[in-house]
Amino acid sequence: MKKIMDITIVGSGIIGLLSAKSLIDAGLSVQIIEKNAASLESSWAGGGILLPLYPWRQKKAISELVRLSLTLYPRLSEQLIQATMVDPEWWPCGLLISKNPDIDMAMQWCEKYSIKHCLAPKPLFKSFHTNPLNPLWLPEIAQARNPRLLKSLRTFLGQHNQVEFVENCTFNKVVLKNKRVTAIETSSGNFSVNHLLLATGAWTGQLTEQLFPKYQPVAVSPVKGQMILLDAKVGDLTFMILDQQRYLIPRADGKILAGSTVEQTEFNKSVTDNARASLHQFAIELMPSLKKALLLHHWAGLRPATKEGVPYIDLHPEIQNVSINAGHFRNGLVMAPASAQLMTDLIVDRTPSLDPSPYQLTRTD
Ligand SMILES: Cc1cc2nc3c(=O)[nH]c(=O)nc-3n(C[C@H](O)[C@H](O)[C@H](O)COP(=O)(O)OP(=O)(O)OC[C@H]3O[C@@H](n4cnc5c(N)ncnc54)[C@H](O)[C@@H]3O)c2cc1C
Repeated sequence: MKKIMDITIVGSGIIGLLSAKSLIDAGLSVQIIEKNAASLESSWAGGGILLPLYPWRQKKAISELVRLSLTLYPRLSEQLIQATMVDPEWWPCGLLISKNPDIDMAMQWCEKYSIKHCLAPKPLFKSFHTNPLNPLWLPEIAQARNPRLLKSLRTFLGQHNQVEFVENCTFNKVVLKNKRVTAIETSSGNFSVNHLLLATGAWTGQLTEQLFPKYQPVAVSPVKGQMILLDAKVGDLTFMILDQQRYLIPRADGKILAGSTVEQTEFNKSVTDNARASLHQFAIELMPSLKKALLLHHWAGLRPATKEGVPYIDLHPEIQNVSINAGHFRNGLVMAPASAQLMTDLIVDRTPSLDPSPYQLTRTD
């Protein structure tokens, strides 16, 4: 008879994959169900800046996850390189924030969360055309290259016997008995379940409404983000820059990402000419040397939004063997390692790494 894995995870974005890693580190076996080939949604599409944009303007619950994640990323990256030879390109290249009307708050936040910071020296602006206002330089802020990080994690998990991937498999029905999910019905057949973990990103609201019509759906909905990629040479840009609501991110091979839009379009993930033109305009105005750079790629992803960007990381309050780890909105990459650790703490019932109350499903916000 086929072994039933300890945890059935739905979703193979960064949250599903890192939850899987954290759960196997705790000695559990996992099955990962994914409707596409692995990891092609928001986690693939994101920029990979490992800091929220202006974190001091956001909820403390976000900063707490960020603080823990930032301590976990360097070792995670090292472990993945060693085990898989796929480099997630975790790169502490630094982040320049050009305009900070709330510089005192920014400095206080950096001090509280031990983020190295200073007022940006003028030479950092030599390639840019912008009017800095209390510019802030965060020399140790890192990025990860999303597709590489996901590929590396996917490879790592594939090396473990306690992990089973079921890809191209859509799941939209549960068998519920006495407030427990006993099985899930999927496009690849039925699977018995010990514990079901939903890491379904932007689809979590819609899915929970469909699966558990008697219970409150989880308040997560899609918000589209578009990005472009420009051709440039190694050394043209060596750090990330945030200029008001948009940013440039150099990759290790020199190419430069410009992002991003924030659009309410439900589940429509198509790219638009307007967004491409507006992102391109932003990039060449800020960094005029990019005028000659070829526009190589343009894509979109659906961020899993919650009202204030705080994710849900919790055991379901009514259904005994269901958990949710979703709703990371604009900060899923940077909050993922800590979210995965907290989710595992709750599932295996060990002392939580941080206070779980802000991430509860029953919170009111
Ligand atoms: C343009 C853009 C820029 C971004 N930049 C950054 C950044 O710089 N830094 C940062 O930290 N974050 C950034 N983000 C946000 C970050 O990408 C997301 O918060 C994060 O990827 C969410 O991860 P996830 O695993 O929850 O969702 P996803 O990656 O979307 O994964 C969810 C998975 O669940 C699967 N799924 C859903 N329903 C089902 C079902 N019924 N059956 C089977 N499978 C299912 C989906 O196919 C998908 O693979 C950005 C996002 C975008 C779009």
